[in-house]
Amino acid sequence: MAQSERESGRETLLTNQWASVRAKLQQEVGDVEYRTWLKQVSLAGQDGDELTLMLPTRFLRDWVSKEYGSLITSIWQTENTSIRRVDIRTQPARGTAPNLAEPASNPVAAVRPEARADVIAPLDQRFTFDTFVVGKPNEFAYACARRVAEAPATQGFNPLFLYGGVGLGKTHLMHAIAWELSNNPRHGKPVSVAYMSAEKFMYRFINALRNQSTLEFKNELRSVDVLMIDDLQFLIGKDNTQEEFFHTFNALVDAGKQIVISADKSPSDLSGLEDRLRTRLGCGMVADLHATTFELRISILEAKALRAGVDVPAKVMEFLAHKITSNVRELEGALNRLVAHANLFDRQITLETAHEVLHDVLKAFDRRVTIQEIQKKVAEHWNIKISEMSSARRSRNVARPRQVAMYLAKQLTSKSLPDIGRHFGDRDHTTVMHAVARVTALMGTDAAFAEDVELLRRMLES
Ligand code: ADP
Ligand code: MG
Repeated sequence: MAQSERESGRETLLTNQWASVRAKLQQEVGDVEYRTWLKQVSLAGQDGDELTLMLPTRFLRDWVSKEYGSLITSIWQTENTSIRRVDIRTQPARGTAPNLAEPASNPVAAVRPEARADVIAPLDQRFTFDTFVVGKPNEFAYACARRVAEAPATQGFNPLFLYGGVGLGKTHLMHAIAWELSNNPRHGKPVSVAYMSAEKFMYRFINALRNQSTLEFKNELRSVDVLMIDDLQFLIGKDNTQEEFFHTFNALVDAGKQIVISADKSPSDLSGLEDRLRTRLGCGMVADLHATTFELRISILEAKALRAGVDVPAKVMEFLAHKITSNVRELEGALNRLVAHANLFDRQITLETAHEVLHDVLKAFDRRVTIQEIQKKVAEHWNIKISEMSSARRSRNVARPRQVAMYLAKQLTSKSLPDIGRHFGDRDHTTVMHAVARVTALMGTDAAFAEDVELLRRMLES
């Protein structure tokens, strides 16, 4: 066989495989997603064990790589065992810029009737102000949210920017604002609220580009009284969408509408955000949801148990609040599991059943952070040698960090006191107990120290 024939034979084979990969992809992700994101992927060729696919824009390329990259690779690998890597690239510019839309043969009309429902994501019934438990770590954010719900677009509170770690109540507060507003007409008119995740915003924006209905999308967004975008960090690196968001944002604020944003970091820490957007985001009210304290976790558990109408002994709540410190969602999950178990087997909830039922959950928490990691981070923080964690020296500058490390080990792992003691130069369990008590007391009287410890905890948990 001549070289060229072999070549063209290989090409046909590859084209056939590509058709089959596409069919499988479509089956896997469903029609809508396929048409939105994957239909425009084209095959560029195979080079050795590497296969190259193309997309018309960087934006689409990033999105498809991130969301579908591994799926595409694994489907290709089942289709063609010689492929080890799939590279997704941007097509070299060809004619006019952002060529996002396919030829407008799409059934645009079919998209329109649902557009409204699509913009306004359903709100969670449970996420109201009533069910939000307020404590020191979240009282400021709560108060700001209340204020916005009472008087949207008040100077100084627009935009309201809520930030904090996962599962600390950002979405809950946003939904609470939305519920409150949509239940209370203002000046005789119902308040229209659009709530959506940044991801959804982007998805809708891209869809609008594809369907050549960006104008409608813009008008729709700009017609609301309150726009809420959840998890803004998702727009990082998505320059087109950021741009669009920036304009929507400005148009709304200029028209005296309220904006509420949430993110995992403060505007100044969200690197990758355009400067002018960052500046505007920070010029209203920025409120931080801090990591929960033991007291808040107990209050939340009490409130949830009361709502669920189940009797959970105080000891069990303390146990949960001690063990599950990272976020409220997990705390809730653990409680729900206990309740479900108790109902299913018609048993009381006790400390023993809690240990038994949550065995695997607690083990997962242990895996998350080790005593060694805690010692390392704490030593770094106070600039002492890690060996001091196990040394016998008792001078304050090493003894205090050591106590903090013991305290964090007790809080963040499910190791027993003797176990923890062993990791700190074979100290007795009473020493660990003393350290925990000492650090707890100090945190109550020394705010700067408390902040240090909370910071360390957050770093270790993230
Ligand atoms: P985030 O958006 O910050 O990741 P969520 O708002 O989704 O967190 O909260 C996670 C879960 O924890 C939700 O079920 C929420 O109701 C609950 N939750 C968080 N904080 C509180 C609180 N202070 N009081 C009651 N429930 C809370
Ligand atoms: Mg959320």
